[in-house]
Amino acid sequence: MDGKTANVEIESKKEVPAEALAAARHELGEHNGINMSIEASNTFTFKDSDAMNRAFLGEVGPKTGIYIYSRHLNPTTLNLGRQIAAMEGTETAYCTASGMSAISSVFLQLCNTGGHVVAAKTIYGGTHAMLTHFLPQKCNITTTFVDIVDLEEVDKAMIEGKTSVLYFEPISNPTLIVANIPELSKIAHAKGVKVVVDNTFSPMILSPAKLGADVVVHSISKYISGEADIIAGAVCGPADIVDQMRDLHGGPLMFLGPTMNPKLAFEISGRIPHLSMRMKKHCKRAMKYVTKMKELDPNLDVLYPGLKEHPQHSLLKSMSNKDYGFGGVFCIDMKTEGRACRLMDKLQNNTKFGFMGVSFGYYETLMTCSSRSTNSMMDSKEKESAGISPGLVRFSVGYVGTFEQKWSQFTRAYSEM
Ligand SMILES: *Cc1c(COP(=O)(O)O)cnc(C)c1O
Repeated sequence: MDGKTANVEIESKKEVPAEALAAARHELGEHNGINMSIEASNTFTFKDSDAMNRAFLGEVGPKTGIYIYSRHLNPTTLNLGRQIAAMEGTETAYCTASGMSAISSVFLQLCNTGGHVVAAKTIYGGTHAMLTHFLPQKCNITTTFVDIVDLEEVDKAMIEGKTSVLYFEPISNPTLIVANIPELSKIAHAKGVKVVVDNTFSPMILSPAKLGADVVVHSISKYISGEADIIAGAVCGPADIVDQMRDLHGGPLMFLGPTMNPKLAFEISGRIPHLSMRMKKHCKRAMKYVTKMKELDPNLDVLYPGLKEHPQHSLLKSMSNKDYGFGGVFCIDMKTEGRACRLMDKLQNNTKFGFMGVSFGYYETLMTCSSRSTNSMMDSKEKESAGISPGLVRFSVGYVGTFEQKWSQFTRAYSEM
């Protein structure tokens, strides 16, 4: 894999903003086309039988333009991987068919049977369920869930020689708790534990690898795709981990086979260049909405790390890349499920402010009452301990339309509450 080349570039560009790094990986197409070419072959030929044998022995590979089979590596998908690695500031990256396949493959690479994971208790529901049920049952890999802001608790939960992964999301969803990536990385590394961060919520805003994380995983299905039309993911990290993951003879990516189709990789590659602009738009709009909402109703509970009263406001500010802001998701607490639902119904069906829907990163605003949707399987005690109040409405802020138009749609619905 061409990881070494990317590494040289990144090493000398430590202070360069994420968007500059992402742009640095532009690849021209085969006939000098300004876009990368699509290599639609799933199998590749060799100049002679000796070359074929050397490819299987790993003596030649992508660096010398040699490919074997697209479940292993495909040039177009690899190009997208280079773009995403550049964006995250990691040596290399592998693109997968979904965020979940990226995440599960990382666990299976870094943990063996009998292994142990320490994970934040507020993480994506699919990941939480995999760690709680699937990995213990199928692989005897167990997890201790911790309050990620309690560094002492995290430290105590990691068992030297047994724990191999510390896993968290830098901004948790929907509670918007911010994790201290540099401190958590220090604590984990002192015990020989690898830090794996799911950066789906904050691409471009945060660069976890530059802050100490070993591996960064993404669901491309959200912000990176930006159109709510694609399911895809990526694993970003050092070559010694990522290359092992797609090793012909032992890598989980080879055996589980969550490969990304090169036609899809091509499509995603064209969205990376404007991800930076989109993220800035999402962040700016979210900040504007929460500011106006606090003015509109000073008693309204608004949850957003961009607000000075948010407990980790200055922490997030200290970690985030310049000019990005605090993310595109905020929550308001309508106190009861009834009021939360009434507000969402009005916002969607009366004033056309946004759509009810899970997921985030779309150009229109998406709304969900977490306690009645994504977190409905938790009992009321679990919800309370996770900070999910019954009336919590999560907004994934879109950027289309003028702010004035959208704000008037919001205030019309809110005034009828
Ligand atoms: C959606 C999501 C995932 C899962 O990604 P898929 O692409 O749906 O498999 C993982 N982590 C986070 C934070 C997500 O939001």
